Amino acid sequence: MKTQDLTPHPSPHPQAVRGDPASASPLDNTPRWADELSRQRLPGPFMQHPDLRGLAPATLAVHAGTRDDPVTGAVGTPIYQTSTFLLEDNQYQAIEEGYARDRFIYTRYGNPSQWAVEQKLAALEGAESALVFSSGMAAISATVLSLIDKGGHIVASNELYGGTYAFFQGELPSLGMSVSYVNPRDLAAIEAAIRPNTQILFFESLTNPLLKVADIPALVAMGKRHGVRVVIDATFTSPIAMQPLALGVDVVVHSASKYLNGHSDLIAGVACGSRKLLDSIWPRRLAYGGSLDPHACFMLERGLKTLAIRMRAHAEGALAVARWLESAKHVRRVYFAGLPSHPDHQLAQRLLKNPTGMICFELDGSDAHAVRLLDALRLGKKATSLGGVETLVSLPFNTSHAAFTGAQRERMGIQPGCVRLSVGIEDPADLIADLQQAIKVAFAD
Ligand SMILES: *Cc1c(COP(=O)(O)O)cnc(C)c1O
Repeated sequence: MKTQDLTPHPSPHPQAVRGDPASASPLDNTPRWADELSRQRLPGPFMQHPDLRGLAPATLAVHAGTRDDPVTGAVGTPIYQTSTFLLEDNQYQAIEEGYARDRFIYTRYGNPSQWAVEQKLAALEGAESALVFSSGMAAISATVLSLIDKGGHIVASNELYGGTYAFFQGELPSLGMSVSYVNPRDLAAIEAAIRPNTQILFFESLTNPLLKVADIPALVAMGKRHGVRVVIDATFTSPIAMQPLALGVDVVVHSASKYLNGHSDLIAGVACGSRKLLDSIWPRRLAYGGSLDPHACFMLERGLKTLAIRMRAHAEGALAVARWLESAKHVRRVYFAGLPSHPDHQLAQRLLKNPTGMICFELDGSDAHAVRLLDALRLGKKATSLGGVETLVSLPFNTSHAAFTGAQRERMGIQPGCVRLSVGIEDPADLIADLQQAIKVAFAD
């Protein structure tokens, strides 16, 4: 195969052609387009530009980005398990002129397996461009560090994913960056926390574990008023439930280890947004090295093909389980975005096309009862993480929120006996029967 076959179509920088007398002056090697604000940026980089307009998410999940092998005709994207690529004029020119993101040179820079899954993710998010990373944290750290300068400030949710909080607290201060944490449902407090040096509003589409819904349109309007970019971690919702970019968000990040891959067998992350912003994030992927291995790209691409039907099954199962829990003995309270009893139900109805498979419930008892319940489960697996085809159950008090005291947890609304449930795609009747017998065991004396 000629490496030419894998260059993007059409060439994203047609004006930067070697030998083009207009592309550089004899005294200055800088390509002319480098400083041209009007330079046209095409979406991508993608290997092909089929017209995907009007296709539904379930169709995009199967077809977008996926590229049948041009050599053998094998259906599906081959795994381009290579670290490096043959260098030809095309690649030398890209290195020289600074558009290496658009050519295959070395897999940390880019690889056809990455481009295929990036195009699928970009199509699902309605993004011009996407970058996959070796983990959700690699996506979050590279994105945040691309959008903030030394001396910069972030306003973030005070109920962040623990890894993000650890990154903000452990890494940013030594880089001269700071973060203010605010209640994600208190818009006045969020706006009051914005300072002249604030550069990012960082929020999660649904919080862990109480599943508070971020008012993304209000955050976007606030960001516009203050000239601050909005970054949303949409791991808990997936692009099937919402497309934050369509609401005006600047960059959406995900832990692809959760719903996107969906099979609890892979660690990966993704950032999606405009080509311009993603071009500024790409050098951080290079510098910090969080590139996704081609085989992992294949796994993620395969997982994504069923995203739409999985999300439907998660939501249907979770609705059945949540409804049952609401009437179950020894259950005091249920949080599920698809139930009218959820404090943010109206916002959820406005913003979420799918209530997801995430449920949180409080037992009418202590954390010890919750531990007994987990030990008695036969189907639900005692494990942290979420979004897999198998139901996963964990307790905030000894996992995500173990660093806080009981009093601090209660102030956040996490009561004793709080259980987090990531409902899988099993038959909900089996899950309900399992929960029923486990609750019985937990409260037997
Ligand atoms: C899991 C998770 C992350 C981190 O993703 P990794 O793939 O584990 O690095 C970030 N944000 C949220 C909301 C998560 O659930």
